[in-house]
Amino acid sequence: MNSRKKEIEDIVILGGGTAGWMTAAALSKLLPSQHFKVTLIESDAIGTVGVGEATLPHLGAFNRRLGIDEAEFMRVTQATFKVGIEFQNWGQKGDAYIHPFGDYGYKIAGVPFHHFWTKEKLNGDTTKIDDYSLPVKACQANKFTFPSKDETSVDSTYSYAYHIDAGLYAKFLREFSEKRGARRIEGKVVEVITRSSDNHIDSLIMEDGQRIEADFFVDCTGFRAQLIEQVYQSGYVDWSHWLPCNSAIAIATAQQEVPIPYTKAIAREAGWQWRIPLQHRHGNGYVYCDKFIDREQALDTLQSNLVGPAITEPNYLKFQTGRRKKSWINNCLAIGLSSGFLEPLESTSIYLIQSAIMKLVELIPQQSNLQIKATEYNRSLDMEMERIRDFLILHYHATERDDTPFWDYIRTMQIPDSLQDKMDMFKATGHVQNYRYGLFLEPSWVAVYLGQRFIPNSYDQRVNTLDRSAYIEGMQQFKQEVADAVKRMPSHNDTIHQYCTIGGIENDGLLQSGLYGKRL
Ligand SMILES: Cc1cc2nc3c(=O)[nH]c(=O)nc-3n(C[C@H](O)[C@H](O)[C@H](O)COP(=O)(O)OP(=O)(O)OC[C@H]3O[C@@H](n4cnc5c(N)ncnc54)[C@H](O)[C@@H]3O)c2cc1C
Repeated sequence: MNSRKKEIEDIVILGGGTAGWMTAAALSKLLPSQHFKVTLIESDAIGTVGVGEATLPHLGAFNRRLGIDEAEFMRVTQATFKVGIEFQNWGQKGDAYIHPFGDYGYKIAGVPFHHFWTKEKLNGDTTKIDDYSLPVKACQANKFTFPSKDETSVDSTYSYAYHIDAGLYAKFLREFSEKRGARRIEGKVVEVITRSSDNHIDSLIMEDGQRIEADFFVDCTGFRAQLIEQVYQSGYVDWSHWLPCNSAIAIATAQQEVPIPYTKAIAREAGWQWRIPLQHRHGNGYVYCDKFIDREQALDTLQSNLVGPAITEPNYLKFQTGRRKKSWINNCLAIGLSSGFLEPLESTSIYLIQSAIMKLVELIPQQSNLQIKATEYNRSLDMEMERIRDFLILHYHATERDDTPFWDYIRTMQIPDSLQDKMDMFKATGHVQNYRYGLFLEPSWVAVYLGQRFIPNSYDQRVNTLDRSAYIEGMQQFKQEVADAVKRMPSHNDTIHQYCTIGGIENDGLLQSGLYGKRL
């Protein structure tokens, strides 16, 4: 056994899914190569989870930080733009709303816009808050253009993410990483050697007997959690009583329609179905709780709700929602599914991977401060996961649905105090509990509350101190600006064509006949 304890220079990433290759790409680009050597081990025989196509706007910043050209990234990953998620059937069957990546209205005298909307709603106005959101209206019109940098313009009131083929993204990042000196080893790790002196990982033993030593190990082995759990028994904080979906079936379908600039999340009897538009196909899946329906019923539901012919066999997945008690233990850090999973409803996993990577880059340890950095890392990750957890639970709990045992359970279940407090405050005052860092700030919470019929009984009292006719005029003017801006926007399909297709996406008759690759 190796008893060396030199400075941290050799970093081994175990696992080559989205988490592994994003980590390899970032470390090989952002850490000085004269000090750090990056090696990634992956096993083709084990494979990857094979899902994970909807992202959040932060991915653009990650790619920019790495110097990746956006148009090239979109071309190689067959990406489309994503400006939000449409939730169908969540508050009540038949409902639909969009959680946009952007704002509603604008602050008036420092007061968030939804307070003015609430006052008018309580006075009987029936204008939807959607009419004050450019990203919502753009989604509904199937339009997309890049946001303006002019912060005074309505055209700047949104951001965007992508729908990507995650397998192609990993391939792209592999090439990117290898060009920057990362070494890839193919094969299965069958044994892990730890040092008796301090219980740090010393080396990994491959199936062919090869021994791979390193100073720091990143566990990107997905649900297997080969290092963080199998070696360190970190333990798991189980959140399945609040987020009970524990199974998914994924099927890709042929491209049958012009891709829309948003993900669809359609509530079903025991979970929800996703529909994700890519340039060359659609991703689909049913996320459900197997205590309420069995696999055959779930498959049947998914298959009968597919648009277009299936082009893959069903991919069956099992998971437990929650997080690893500690993601960083000694010289091992878990990133990706190995560190926990909160279910894919708001596309948070790839964001959490990127957030973990950036924290690692900031906290890149030395032997002398490994422990202190691990403690800080674990603290900030726990906080981030818990905030996302509450936001996800809100989607399920803020419902009037009682038509199936699943919805009945979820509507009436006890929720975390942290979420109960947030909901109570919003209901009584219209205020969103705010935080400076992390995901899902005020507009996101407002979108889900209002979209799911959770309307406040009151609003910020400063609204009553302002001239009503003046702010109403301002609201109407903003609504008109939104409508005009949407009119000016090109279609989502045209923007994709001009920006990032290889051959373009067909529509109309050509699409239906299944022909691709021709620019119209
Ligand atoms: C149903 C579902 C839908 C999802 N949808 C989304 C979404 O829309 N958006 C989003 O952001 N996220 C989504 N996710 C999450 C997303 O798929 C993952 O976060 C992402 O793919 C990262 O996975 P990973 O790299 O951690 O694990 P994996 O993809 O499982 O990769 C694990 C890697 O480890 C390797 N490995 C494991 N053990 C060994 C070993 N002993 N030796 C060598 N190699 C080994 C494997 O070969 C593989 O390369 C979804 C997840 C699920 C389950």
